[in-house]
Amino acid sequence: MTEPTLTILPAIPIPAFMSGEVQSKLAYVDESILSATVEPDGSMIQIIFKPQAGNVNQETINSKVQDVVALMVKGVIQPRTQVLEDFLDRPVPSKQDPMPELLASQEVSQEGRGIYTLGPLITSLIAYFESRFLELADSFSAVPYRFPTLISAKYLDRVNYFKAFPHSLSFVTHLREDLENIDQFAQHTHWEDESLNAGPESFSKIEVLNSPAVCYHWYFMLADQQLKEDNLVSTAVGNCFRYESSNLTSLERLWNFTMREIIFIGHGEYVLEQRETGRQRMTGILEELGLAYRVESANDPFFIGEFRKQAAFQSAFQLKYEIRASLPFSGKTLAVGSYNYHQDFFGRNLNITLPDGSPIHTGCIAFGLERMAYAFLSQYGLDKNQWPAAVREGVR
Ligand code: ATP
Ligand code: ZN
Ligand code: MG
Repeated sequence: MTEPTLTILPAIPIPAFMSGEVQSKLAYVDESILSATVEPDGSMIQIIFKPQAGNVNQETINSKVQDVVALMVKGVIQPRTQVLEDFLDRPVPSKQDPMPELLASQEVSQEGRGIYTLGPLITSLIAYFESRFLELADSFSAVPYRFPTLISAKYLDRVNYFKAFPHSLSFVTHLREDLENIDQFAQHTHWEDESLNAGPESFSKIEVLNSPAVCYHWYFMLADQQLKEDNLVSTAVGNCFRYESSNLTSLERLWNFTMREIIFIGHGEYVLEQRETGRQRMTGILEELGLAYRVESANDPFFIGEFRKQAAFQSAFQLKYEIRASLPFSGKTLAVGSYNYHQDFFGRNLNITLPDGSPIHTGCIAFGLERMAYAFLSQYGLDKNQWPAAVREGVR
């Protein structure tokens, strides 16, 4: 059975540089949408509906899509991409997507949408990358922390997370404490039509979520405190969750992934300096890993609406740089890490001050561990003999 489709010509032209961003947001427009693709030149949108969606009102979908496009592209100006490092043409031996081979050998197994189990090869590859990130963390004498996987809704609200990234939240609930409710659930609940058949009335209100990032936990821990030191550096690795809807594909974009972060707190100049030092130290490590990549300015994928301005602001003030590794099989690049500066955003919203009473500035260097492994295997393949010496020797 072929799924129903809809072709949409955007009333307001989508500039090519916005096509990826618009595509990622279209996934959230309507529940009937299975996938949405925007032509790279922005000229056309192709919507594929879920087979179970039934008779969708194409006119309604068309107008919702046109609204999103208008909100995102009206008056948008192409930010100037600043390239800090360009090693995209570093020669690499592979041109194949490693995913089919990884799935066939059960090195990667899909448990659910955006959820994968990783086997011994990727596990040891990630352990090796981790050892290199820890070497970077050590060079800053970063203090180690372990943060929880759950994150408090109370604090996420204080940093406006629900306004900035509502579409990617992952909520955690539990059964309401009520004997009859729990008994009913135990007796009648089953997996049906791709979900549990229990109704929303069985569940508690939301008090916690699955954490979308690592560094937030450290800022939350320090909320409403005046620090005794001017500069602090920490490091932690943790599970992160982002619901990326129909964009959840292979190891590129997961619902549940792992991030290693090195986090800086201090005055603005200090944080910027550390971020820059971190980037320069990473250049040597990435060279030993043999990665073909470039580092360029970027902005966060804020929800459409008032936060569009924030993206322009981020670009203008160079608050975010991404390490974008090449995926030779597709000719595209994928962010495997980012260098971020939040100015005094967390300091102000969480009331954290330095010894002189001014709000802290914060920044972090974040690595996506699964994406590091995926990008590396896309460039070097699964045969260890083809790997750069440092990686071959580091992976035991
Ligand atoms: P993208 O633009 O690709 O969605 P991002 O800007 O949302 O990335 P950051 O918030 O900077 O990513 O997170 C740091 C790193 O975490 C990214 O560089 C990436 O390696 C990893 N990461 C982010 N989202 C995902 C995801 N859904 N699946 C796997 N890794 C991810
Ligand atoms: Zn961070
Ligand atoms: Mg993202």
